[in-house]
Amino acid sequence: SPVIVWLRRDLRLSDQAAIAAAAAKGPVIPVYVLDDETAKHRAMGGASRWWLHHSLASLDADLRQKGSRLMLRKGRCEDVLAALAEEVGADEVHALHHYEPWWRNAEKAVAGKVRLCLHDGNYLAPPGSVRTGSGAPYKIYTPFWRALEKQMPPPEPRPCLQTIAAPQTWPASDDLQDWKLLPTAPDWAGGMRNFWEPGEQGAQMRLRDFADKASRYKEERDFPSIKATSFLSPHLHFGEISPAQVWHAVGKAGGSVATFLGEVGWRDCAQNVIVQFPDYGAVPARDTFDAFPWRTGEAARADLRAWQQGRTGYPIVDAGMRQLWHTGWMHNRVRMIAASFLIKHLLIDWREGEQWFWDTLVDADYASNAVNWQWTAGSGVDSNMFVRIMAPLSQSEKFDAAVYIREWVPELADLPDGEIHDPSPVCRPESYPDRLIEHRDARERALAAWEKTKA
Ligand code: FAD
Repeated sequence: SPVIVWLRRDLRLSDQAAIAAAAAKGPVIPVYVLDDETAKHRAMGGASRWWLHHSLASLDADLRQKGSRLMLRKGRCEDVLAALAEEVGADEVHALHHYEPWWRNAEKAVAGKVRLCLHDGNYLAPPGSVRTGSGAPYKIYTPFWRALEKQMPPPEPRPCLQTIAAPQTWPASDDLQDWKLLPTAPDWAGGMRNFWEPGEQGAQMRLRDFADKASRYKEERDFPSIKATSFLSPHLHFGEISPAQVWHAVGKAGGSVATFLGEVGWRDCAQNVIVQFPDYGAVPARDTFDAFPWRTGEAARADLRAWQQGRTGYPIVDAGMRQLWHTGWMHNRVRMIAASFLIKHLLIDWREGEQWFWDTLVDADYASNAVNWQWTAGSGVDSNMFVRIMAPLSQSEKFDAAVYIREWVPELADLPDGEIHDPSPVCRPESYPDRLIEHRDARERALAAWEKTKA
């Protein structure tokens, strides 16, 4: 009888343990279930839906080359999979483990209705499995990474199957176009189409590009004007490439790649945190933040909108926010600066920023997003301190963001290097906004707010 493969954020054919296990047993029916009910308010945001559409189209094309195809169904996972299993006479559903709280609930519900076989492979090690000497999971990155590194390298990735046996007849599938995952009017995805190629081939291309420059990563990764990082985050998020594939390919690139592999380890660490704290995307890990006097009301909402639109009057922040809007991605150093600016300069609750990123990032990832926002706010288990307030202007100079700013804030493109990070009123074009708040005032206000939480 046929075997169902339930695909989620693991949209690849190579190094895919669920497909390999199913194919060893019989004809395979790969299915993607669009299930917004289970995820509720964590249903995918706009940029992720755009990515998903193209990734599913690409996976279907790849499957067809192997004699298979991708089934699309909509509804609650457990209902859809149980009905499909009955319809095709399948006894088993294979899938990779996922750790977002809603996926863990869904796995329980599915397992209540059909035989569900879960496999590893989306992380360097199964989240929650790396433990201290006393058997507890880690909360903090550095000791976590030290322990995980000892278990590395991950197993060699398995090659792609030559063919995937098809059932005698295919069950009915939805039409991808009918899912309406793409924007219509306005079509905001032009910049994304130019920059990304969702799917397994796009992921392999990024990996090859990166292997050539991996040895310079450590020195260059913090400079947003240099395209020094891998751009693998959306591909890793959607599982179009496995971290084991990344590890083995980059490891062979030579040079010092430890810093890069350590960043891939952050991705594992974030999952390890949400396994322990499933509400991490909504609940600060430190109680002191329950009483934090976040700004709310009309003026704060106007500031939030200015931040979202890249009109804060701080060129580095604005460049980042516009890069995000156009491409669905932002350089990591600039994510840190822009997030810190929202939280500490504007005193707006980090959850507002987390939600904006959730909607606009093509790599929006529940664990990585929540962990990085809580880290920036100083509310997390691993935290940076709230009182360490990043100065956007000196960050911009230190990490030489001039080229980056000229690319994303075109109204400042003609300013000389000496003016670009912090345009003086004489040089600043009229179309560029005044600063929402001066750095020194923002710093004082933030420190005063922090003092109140201790009262
Ligand atoms: P590279 O530098 O090439 O790193 C390789 C891979 O390591 C990345 O693809 C990613 O999978 C992983 N990685 C790198 N840095 C981190 C990190 N700090 N935390 C977790 N994983 C990391 N990353 C996401 O994938 N999804 C998110 O939703 C997300 N939200 C973020 C929110 C904030 C406020 C901040 C400061 C960072 C966030 N990051 C998030 C982490 C990081 O910015 C991106 O992973 C990185 O910029 C992706 O670019 P890259 O693939 O070129 O990274």
